[in-house]
Amino acid sequence: MNIPFINLKASGEIRDEIKEAVARVIDSGIYILGEEVEAFEHQFAAYCDSSECVGVGNGLEALSLTLRAWGIGPGDEVIVPAHTFIATALAVTAVGAQPVLVDVEEDTGLLDVDLVEAAISGRTRAVIPVHLYGQPVDMDRLLGVAEKNGLRVLEDAAQAHGARYKGRRVGSLGHAAAFSFYPTKNLGALGDGGAVTVGDGQTAKAIRQLGNYGSYEKYTHQVMGFNSRLDPIQAAVLNAKLPHLDRWNAHRRDLAHRYLNGLSGLPGIVMPALRAEAEPVWHVFAVRIRDGRRAEIQKALTARGIGTNLHYPRAVHQQPCYLGSETRLRAGLLPNAEKWAAEALSLPLHPHLGLEDIDCVVVALREVLA
Ligand SMILES: *Cc1c(COP(=O)(O)O)cnc(C)c1O
Repeated sequence: MNIPFINLKASGEIRDEIKEAVARVIDSGIYILGEEVEAFEHQFAAYCDSSECVGVGNGLEALSLTLRAWGIGPGDEVIVPAHTFIATALAVTAVGAQPVLVDVEEDTGLLDVDLVEAAISGRTRAVIPVHLYGQPVDMDRLLGVAEKNGLRVLEDAAQAHGARYKGRRVGSLGHAAAFSFYPTKNLGALGDGGAVTVGDGQTAKAIRQLGNYGSYEKYTHQVMGFNSRLDPIQAAVLNAKLPHLDRWNAHRRDLAHRYLNGLSGLPGIVMPALRAEAEPVWHVFAVRIRDGRRAEIQKALTARGIGTNLHYPRAVHQQPCYLGSETRLRAGLLPNAEKWAAEALSLPLHPHLGLEDIDCVVVALREVLA
């Protein structure tokens, strides 16, 4: 059996469309910004039910440039979940602000909105809900808390392109949303890429300026800027892929439901919980393996040719870069984040697998767990 965790080459399904798109950029002679980037920004904003989209260099900078555009920096605090990819917290550190970690829900691994209010101080300026594994955070409740306390809400939608919450797309739910087009994401480029979707034109303009050396006008630099732009070759690839995204996400959902049906009730394994009001896009299918057996189960699956991954083996406060740095992180007790870090195991799930592949993984898991 050979079921790899991910197979990016399989996007060969639209190989010709991608090659044509790249060739179009090569022939255009325009290798920074230009029409391909504008077309993608336009289409992706519409896809996300948002009015504006600004392409940037990657997902980390989509987060950090938005915080900067809002004037968040030294002396400010930003609330982030303790269980996420490290970039969520790094973006806060990058602008000189303090990440304040909040625990996640035991059953979904998503930011526990009930704990947010207690983490707010006089310095708190924003909160970054992460739609982890492709499932939206309970945004209406979070927006209620944010509004009451005058906080901005920046969605980290890097794993959730196309997901919906109460019928609305992620990317249109908070005050702004950060996306990554890292190759493994649901919408992935052939290299790095990122974008911010945002409803207000002023923030969009500020992000565009910050990512372009702090200038709107060539050789006039109003603010200290950065170089963080979406590459036109990557934009062309994304323009070719975007029309297929809903179909790929629907297939991911079918595969996820195959796992849920095949594995539920099995002792020793905990299925991810699903929210009634959410339509997740299953960036990864992460189960939890109980009783300290994760390493053993992962090894047994590897021996059977089944690729798995850990998202993520350490919570933010357990990362070496943040260890012992109370001045750089503020965190209370984070038992659920630590549980996810110790027990999460991601099973193969990507658009180029078939239902029969999922059945093979289910059979293998039943055997190795027994
Ligand atoms: C991938 C990811 C990022 C960072 O995106 P890059 O494009 O790799 O910088 C941020 N947050 C989350 C939750 C991610 O999964």
